[in-house]
Amino acid sequence: MAYLRATEGTDGRRAYAVCSPVDGSALPSFDVANAQDVADAIGRAREAQRQWGATPVKERAALMQRLLDTLLERKDEVMARLTAETGRPAMDTLLIEIFASCDVINYYGRRASRILADRKVGMHLLRMKKAKVVYKPLGVVAVISPWNGPLILSLNPTVMAVLAGNAVVLKPSEVTPEAGRIVAELFAAAGFPKDLVQTVLGDGETGAALVNGGVDKVTFTGSVATGRKIGEACGRNLIPCTLELGGKDPMIVLEDADMVRAAGGAVFGGMMNTGQFCMGIERVYVLRPVADEFIAKVVARVSELEYGRDYGPFIFDKQCATVERQVDDAVRAGATVLVGGKRDGDTYLPTVITGVNHSMDLMSQETFGPVLPIVVVDSVDEAVRLANDSQYGLCASVWTQDTERGERIGRLIQAGSVMINETSMIYGALELPFGGVKASGLGQTHGEDGLRAYCHAFPILTDRFGLREESVWYPYTEEKTNSMMKALKVIWGSPLRRLM
Ligand code: NAD
Repeated sequence: MAYLRATEGTDGRRAYAVCSPVDGSALPSFDVANAQDVADAIGRAREAQRQWGATPVKERAALMQRLLDTLLERKDEVMARLTAETGRPAMDTLLIEIFASCDVINYYGRRASRILADRKVGMHLLRMKKAKVVYKPLGVVAVISPWNGPLILSLNPTVMAVLAGNAVVLKPSEVTPEAGRIVAELFAAAGFPKDLVQTVLGDGETGAALVNGGVDKVTFTGSVATGRKIGEACGRNLIPCTLELGGKDPMIVLEDADMVRAAGGAVFGGMMNTGQFCMGIERVYVLRPVADEFIAKVVARVSELEYGRDYGPFIFDKQCATVERQVDDAVRAGATVLVGGKRDGDTYLPTVITGVNHSMDLMSQETFGPVLPIVVVDSVDEAVRLANDSQYGLCASVWTQDTERGERIGRLIQAGSVMINETSMIYGALELPFGGVKASGLGQTHGEDGLRAYCHAFPILTDRFGLREESVWYPYTEEKTNSMMKALKVIWGSPLRRLM
């Protein structure tokens, strides 16, 4: 069954028919927005942003509370629409999409006035001046999102960009257009100005038109291959971009880890959202002395997972072939499947596999499915070396009862962030910066800097005392040169430098 089928649309546009991963029933189809449609949306957004950018942050934030109310009022309808589109168990949708969206809206809504307030800056040298930094909106932000967390990965950047005074044109994945429609509907129903948040539906062609359509920033979440194209386009257009890309997150299990927690964490981190999770655990390195116990516990827990309750079909059917190929190739090369290891209708059985190595795609490429490959290692050094032997660097985790040692080891891992005895939670820790290194991305979101990244930090420097002349202005004279030489000695060649 194909969830997405190309068809003909209106006025010569291409179109897609979409069907539900749940039962194959037809969902609303859509025309692919062409370059003119995108240009029109950007034009309307720019118009709407003019007034919005001048609206006090407090008023913008007040509307965010209405957005939260609107989402809560409509949560059943939103959940039903997301479930039809993704086929996920209710708990995945609640946790990843609804709960996380509520938190983002409320967290940033409540703090935006403080985070975006003009900031006075004391001068270390130019004490005759006063200075402040003002956070000016950028204008129109393009948000381009993937299919694996279609609501949160569209809504989160949109909320931040809008709070910062921008308009947003959102291009959701063609696989999950309904989530994109929901975002625009929620903002409209909450009373945000018309055209401030618009959704354009389409595929890569629509996304490329948006990136090249004169927007002021691009926030992209998706694959490394598309991220590179977007990074190149933004470089050409000289606009900032944030790229949240794929991952192959390693988990290191030390000898002294709590085996129950480590096994539970491995299964949750590897199987959540049926493994379609950028920061899901995709590689496990366990120290030999505890390997048998850990593996047995993981296998037992994976064997208990139930279709429909704990995992579902693939959100995008094509993903199943990737997972199947990686596991089959690994088995052909000598790996051993302990549980699962095969397709089951529209899904892939939750799988634990050992005997794997880094020459296999299963260990070097993103899998994005419910598969936990486990490698037994003889030392922490070996675990760290293998964890770092990857093009990716999104997140990582270390499991041990000695959390200081865990932190020391965690610092050695080339990743955007590390968790100790924890998995998956860091995207929800809004206080912390989130983003990958290496091929996993460029730039970071979340935290105070994440919100400010939707602004231009605009410094204003003002002369304080209104002197008619500055000592260094023209004409240059010998006297001025001499006093500059003296100042050099007094300030930098004396203990005074400590005050600078
Ligand atoms: P994808 O790159 O195929 O598509 C993502 C979006 O980009 C879609 O909306 C698509 O239509 C659009 N697009 C495609 N080509 C484009 C182009 N040339 N110009 C502009 N837009 C274009 O990714 P996907 O398969 O939808 O998503 C899965 C990937 O996303 C995985 O690799 C996953 O790890 C990653 N991801 C990363 C994070 C993170 O925070 N780091 C979060 C979730 C998903």
